[in-house]
Order: sequence, then structure tokens, then C-alpha cells
Amino acid sequence: MGRGCLACARGGRAFAERYRQFLLEPGTLVTLASAVLLVAAIVQHPRGAISSAHGDGGTAPYIAAAVIASVYIWFSAIQGVRERDFTADIPVSIATAAAIAAGLYSAAAVVAVLLLVGGLLEEFVAARAGRALDALESLLPELVTVRRGPRDEQVALDQVLVGDRVLVRPGERIAVDGTVTNGHAAVDQAAITGESIPVDKAPGDPVFAGTLATVGALEIRATLVGAQTTLGQIRRMVADAEQQKAPVQRVLDRWAKLYTPVAIVLAAILWAATGSISSAITMLIVFCPCVMVLATPTALVASIGNAALNGSLVKRGATIEAMASVDTVLFDKTGTLTTGRPSLAAIEPLDGLTETDVLALAASAEKFSEHPIAHAVVRAATDRTIAVTDPDWFQALPGLGVRAHTLGHELLIGRPSLLAEHGLDISDRGDEHGGLTTITLAVDGQPAARIAFHDEPRPEAAATIAALRAVGIGTALITGDQTAVAQRVAGQLGIDDVQAEVLPRDKASAVRDRQDRGQRVAFVGDGVNDGPALARADVGVAMGISGTDLALETAQVALLSDDLSKLVHLLGLAHQAMRAIRQNLIFSLGVLVIAVALTIAQILHPVTGALLHELSSIPVIANSARLIRRHPA
Ligand code: ADP
Ligand code: MG
Repeated sequence: MGRGCLACARGGRAFAERYRQFLLEPGTLVTLASAVLLVAAIVQHPRGAISSAHGDGGTAPYIAAAVIASVYIWFSAIQGVRERDFTADIPVSIATAAAIAAGLYSAAAVVAVLLLVGGLLEEFVAARAGRALDALESLLPELVTVRRGPRDEQVALDQVLVGDRVLVRPGERIAVDGTVTNGHAAVDQAAITGESIPVDKAPGDPVFAGTLATVGALEIRATLVGAQTTLGQIRRMVADAEQQKAPVQRVLDRWAKLYTPVAIVLAAILWAATGSISSAITMLIVFCPCVMVLATPTALVASIGNAALNGSLVKRGATIEAMASVDTVLFDKTGTLTTGRPSLAAIEPLDGLTETDVLALAASAEKFSEHPIAHAVVRAATDRTIAVTDPDWFQALPGLGVRAHTLGHELLIGRPSLLAEHGLDISDRGDEHGGLTTITLAVDGQPAARIAFHDEPRPEAAATIAALRAVGIGTALITGDQTAVAQRVAGQLGIDDVQAEVLPRDKASAVRDRQDRGQRVAFVGDGVNDGPALARADVGVAMGISGTDLALETAQVALLSDDLSKLVHLLGLAHQAMRAIRQNLIFSLGVLVIAVALTIAQILHPVTGALLHELSSIPVIANSARLIRRHPA
């Protein structure tokens, strides 16, 4: 027992600490004060609470509770009207005012306090639903060791600046997004990417705020701090989800404007027909869209929280709704279905150059390109200890290749058709390297080399395609690479629908074509050249690690660990979320209809009406909260 009590006390302190701000809000204080008064009133005069008979609840504590709670409700209703937000506060305000005017003080007190307590509970549950946020918050250290000048200093988290060198010791959480400059460590990234196995980090590797260095120490140069970090963005998206409205929600909002006048008219008719002011007051209380308004955002917030905890960023609530209707998923190849870390397979000089010459020229031209193949060229050169000089001039040709001036030469490097466009057809020279991704290099307007790469499919790609097919979702491969390569990869993964040698704008057309046929399309991509298609698709999905900033910004969903199998989880989650929303709406509409019928039949009174009204939100919130716990299959 003793231990339990101790834990209780500690829990109580932690609770008060965490919710201090919430507890000190005026609304909370008014609610608690009026609730205490009401309890006192009931203790003093229990009969007053149940009997709505005239004058029965006219004791001072009832009147005080009624006035304090009602005035607060009126106050927030008036504020709502000022902000053109015609909430359910209006009919409820009229109801409590009418009850007080009619001398039904105890009924007014019970109803007003119940509604305030209900509202408080809802806010409290919402704060708890933000538990995902709390969990994310706890991923950051309070103090951070930065190396400014010769000395290491401990500074508060919010004092860390971009460019700071941050020291992370074994077992410590990483506080910033950045690049490793020194040291090696196994980093547990589960909180951000959902990867269960720690990832080895060495100089040059990116690290995320909120991940944990398990073994080994790291020095990191901070590139993003605070709210800019991936973790900060996840937090913001989970928090924003509540504000944002899915299309379902917007329809409801339009109706919500109608509720207030309808409630008032219904109450007036009921009063005229029955002569019972109590029934009219009950109608004002039960005819309220509150629960229906909760139906959608609670489910969306829970789903976005679930996605975040499983390593996917879903930026908006509406995206969940769009994902639920997706029936076709189009994939980019390089960097999306494949690992995006192509390795050099062969260099074939055409023009008397050595392999070293070819790599030195190609790597210099590619040095500033973001494309996975460009990285592979630079890696191949560095592996052979070939110096990679900066180009004098560089131009990216998205989806085609690059042009550059370097080492005294004019270079054109990229897909074979790029050279063909410049009148350099080399298809009859040397091997074709069928099935391997091949790029060609021209030096000073002359074909100079062919370079071939292996690019293996991601290990989970085939299973993901199969899982999508199993739930009836069509897949297609849309790539800028050569047909032979595309065919080989598609064959390995079981994709029938292949479009190869596609230019960036034609990737968007590929999406549009399918949309014109009535399909709902998700596009999964990583590159700059995928931007138009990601924007055009009903749902754009970017690869989090291999993805370029442009892809990540354009897409509505990011797979933080580049794990394609998360896609299957996300689509399933979206279906469940929409089902939960439908259930919530049907349930709340059902309760409303029943409550109105019982009110007309004069079975419900203000007090029972308020109870029914408040209690009916619990199943809705609980149903939505289930979504948080759904695990990936
Ligand atoms: P995918 O659609 O499969 O991701 P991309 O559209 O990005 O492929 O690229 C299509 C083709 O264009 C690549 O297979 C490659 O041949 C060529 N390419 C694009 N960018 C570059 C680059 N920076 N260097 C060399 N080749 C490039
Ligand atoms: Mg790509």
C-alpha cells in the first residue's frame, strides 16, 4: 500500500506539473468553482438536484452555482459570436438563461456545470490524445553539449544554433538534425523512422533530432534546430491536424451554422405546443452538433499520430481521407523502388580515354547534382582515390542528366537519349549493357564513354507490391530510365504496367491519364523530376531519406525510413480512419435523433438531457483513440 501511495503522490505531482497551464486557465477555475458550489448545494439540499419543480432548488448555493457557470457560458458564447463562430454555446446560453429566468435554479446549475465539466473533460482527453506529442517531446535532451571555441559547454536545448558542433555521448539523445563530423555510433532511430534496428553512423551521415546514440559518441554539425527539425515538423503536423479540416468536416461545419437557428425554432415550437419551459430548455441542450463535430478530427489526429509513431509523416488530415480512396499506386524507379545507391558495374571508354579519365571528368560534372546516379559516379571516383574537382559551370537537366564545364572541357552526361538529342548516337558502338542502368558521357561534343550501374530493388519492394495487389490496388512503374532496365525491375517485383524513358512533365501526365480514367492515384517518388507528378497525384508520397527536399516539400506524405512497406500500413490505416469516422457520425446522429424524440415525448429533462449529451461523446472519442494503437501488419 505504502508504495502505491508514494507512487500516487509522485504521479499527482507529475500530473500537476504537466497540466499546470491547463489547470490555471480561467475556464478550468470557473468550472471547478461552480462544480464545488453545486456539490455543496446538493449535500445541503439533495432533493433540489433531481426535482425540477418550481422553487425546489432555490437555495443560495444552487443560485450561485447556476449564475457563475451560466455567466461563463454566456461570456464564451458572446466571444464566439464576435469571432463569427456560431457554436453550440448559443442555444445552451439561451437554455441556462431561460432556466434562471423561470426560477429553475437547480436545473440551471446542474446543466451548466455538467456542460462545463464535459467540455473540460473533452479538452483533457484532447490533451491526452496529444500524448503522442508528449512522447515526442520527451525524445529531446534538456541540456546539450556544444563545442564553441576551445571549450565544451552545456547549454539549454533552445540555445543550440544552426552550425553548432554538438557532442553526443553514448546513451544520449541527439538534439538537432545534422551531419556527423566525427566519431562512429549505432543510432536507434525508431522514434523518427520506425526502424527497429540501430543504424551505424559515420562522418558524413545524416542524423535526426530525437534519435538515440546507443554505442559510441558522435560530433554533429547542426543543420536544423528546434521546430525546423524533422521531429519538430512531426510535432507541428500532429498538433495542426486538429485544426485542419477534412472535406467531411467542412460539410459538417456548413450544417453546424444551421443548428443554432433550428434548435431555437424547435425549442420555441415545443414550448408553444406543450407549455413546458423545461422541455424547451432540454431541446436547446440536446440539439447540439458537438459530438458530430468531434467525430472527424479525433479520428484524423489519432491516425496522423499513429503514422508518426510508425515512421511516416502525414502532413494534413485531408490526406488521410484521400488515401482511403486510392486505388492505383505509381512508383518511380531509381531511389524509390530501388535502393537509390547504385554501384558502378562497368566503364566503357569509347574514345581512347582511360577509365580514370572518364571517372575524373564524370565525377567533376556530377559533383553538384542531387541525383542518385550522380552520387554513385562521385563515390566510384572517390573509391579509386581520384580527385573530384568542382566544375567551373554546372547545369542540371532534371530527368536527363547534367551539363558542365570542367577541367577545360565541355561535358554532357546523362541518359543515352540525351546524347542522341544532341546528335550523338552511340547505340551502334560497344555493348548495350542490357538491364543495367547506363549513362553516357560526351566530351567536347564527342561521345566519350558509357558507364553502367547496378541498382538493386529495395528488399521490401516485392512484398509491398504483392500486399497492395492483395487488397486490390493496382501498381505501375513510371521511370526516366531505359526500357530494358525498367522491364527487368518490374519483372523482379511483379509489376505489369511499365512506362519507361519518361520525362519529368510526362510523369505528371501519366498520373493525369489515370485520373482521367477515374482512378485515384498515389505517386511515390524521390527526385526533383518527380515533383510535378507528386503535386498532380491525389496523394504524393516522398521517400524520407533518399528523397530530395523538393520531393519532400511537394508530397503530402513522407516515408521517413524509406520503408515502402509503410505504404501498406498507411493505406490500411486510412481505411480504418474513414470507417471510424462513419461509425462516429452514425452514432452521434443516432443519439441526437433519440434525444430529440425523448425530449418531445417529455421523458428527458434538462439534467438528464445534459447527461446524455455529455456522455455520448465518450464512445466517439474512444472509437477514434483506437486508431492510435493500430500496429503495422
Ligand atoms: P527515375 O525516374 O527512375 O527516378 P530519373 O528520371 O531520375 O530516373 O532519371 C532518368 C534517367 O536520366 C536516369 O536513368 C539517368 O540515365 C539519367 N539521369 C538523370 N539525372 C542524371 C544525372 N545527374 N547524371 C546522370 N544521369 C542522369
Ligand atoms: Mg527517382
